Amino acid sequence: MSVKAKKHLGQHFLTDESIAKKIADTLTLKKYTTILEIGPGMGVLTKYLLEKKPKVTVMEIDSESVTYLQETFPNEHLKLNTSKEKFQIIEGDFLKQDISRIFDHQQTAIIGNFPYNISSQIVFKAIENRAFVPEFSGMFQKEVAQRIAEKEGSKTYGILSVLTQAFYDVEYLFTVPPTVFNPPPKVDSGVIRLIRKENYTLPVDEKLFFRVVKTSFNQRRKMLRSSLKSFNLSDSLKEDPIFAKRPEQLSVQEFINLTAKIANHGI
Ligand code: SAH
Repeated sequence: MSVKAKKHLGQHFLTDESIAKKIADTLTLKKYTTILEIGPGMGVLTKYLLEKKPKVTVMEIDSESVTYLQETFPNEHLKLNTSKEKFQIIEGDFLKQDISRIFDHQQTAIIGNFPYNISSQIVFKAIENRAFVPEFSGMFQKEVAQRIAEKEGSKTYGILSVLTQAFYDVEYLFTVPPTVFNPPPKVDSGVIRLIRKENYTLPVDEKLFFRVVKTSFNQRRKMLRSSLKSFNLSDSLKEDPIFAKRPEQLSVQEFINLTAKIANHGI
């Protein structure tokens, strides 16, 4: 039995075992004992995760895949000598779950060959829950993976890059061609790893930081002086040279500095 791929769920099943293993091996297994896999599909990645020590939870939205996993993995347990409690299959939409409840206050690494249609939302949700997510790795559409890892000064540097890198160190690990999927996606894929920074709280109001970053990039070609008008900046603050820059020129640290300036002088 196998699962017929459903396009609206972003299903592209990985068919190359060595790449599945390579993705599972991106986990450092440091500082956590539980793993959450998003979108296991037919479990190609799951079986390599189960070979590792930690507790594995998989969350899958497609009930046909869930049935497949339930039928396939009992045997895997016996082979791998893992106890049942170590493995849990949850049927559900990751974006709608209260994941702090699923994590049960355990530090949990998130991994997956993610559904590309919702991959940015998955990253944002991980960032929101960063207190429980010391590591996050997996496969995205290559362009999205690059955007998350991109540094300032590039056209693809944007909201996703700044908000991720404010809390995580990002590494772009390797590229995967469409030919190793069934059905093949139209684009290349990229595997990245995020490791949470030692200090993942900001020295500024985080809500304000998010607003400043998002508002700046909403009009990415304009100078900050103009795109941040809605913050009612005082005239003297607008004289600061940082406001003559465009958002893609600012490093994460400069966005933090900018937020501090607005918090101190803005309204
Ligand atoms: N990991 C598998 C499947 C990747 S395809 C492999 O590498 O072969 C992406 C998977 O994510 C599909 O199984 C799809 O059903 C699942 N998925 C899509 N949206 C989801 C969501 N919101 N929450 C959880 N899983 C989702």
